[in-house]
Amino acid sequence: MNLVGIAWELDRLRWVPSGVLADVVARDGLCMWAFSDVPPWGDEELTDRELAARMCAGCPVRDECLELELRTAGADTVGVWGALSADDRRELYPHWLRRGERAERGPCS
Ligand code: SF4
Repeated sequence: MNLVGIAWELDRLRWVPSGVLADVVARDGLCMWAFSDVPPWGDEELTDRELAARMCAGCPVRDECLELELRTAGADTVGVWGALSADDRRELYPHWLRRGERAERGPCS
């Protein structure tokens, strides 16, 4: 996994307010509407990395979701967001921090 490359890709969202990211993810995030009942992998034992690969495949707002989670949860992240497991996001976080300024950091209001 190219963490530096992922952090670099998120730069395009640098100045997008967190509230806008939250609205976009809530509106267009695949997991927000596609799996209202039991998801197709409901009976399988999956690692978070496997779950991220399945749940987030084809989601049109993966970058927005990942950027928002890095801003709001930082290294304290839990679960699957932005097509990455929590372990992968924790590894990504210092690379993302090094990319510099953001429109906002911390919990979105
Ligand atoms: S990237 Fe994954 S966790 Fe985020 S909104 Fe899309 S499906 Fe949901």
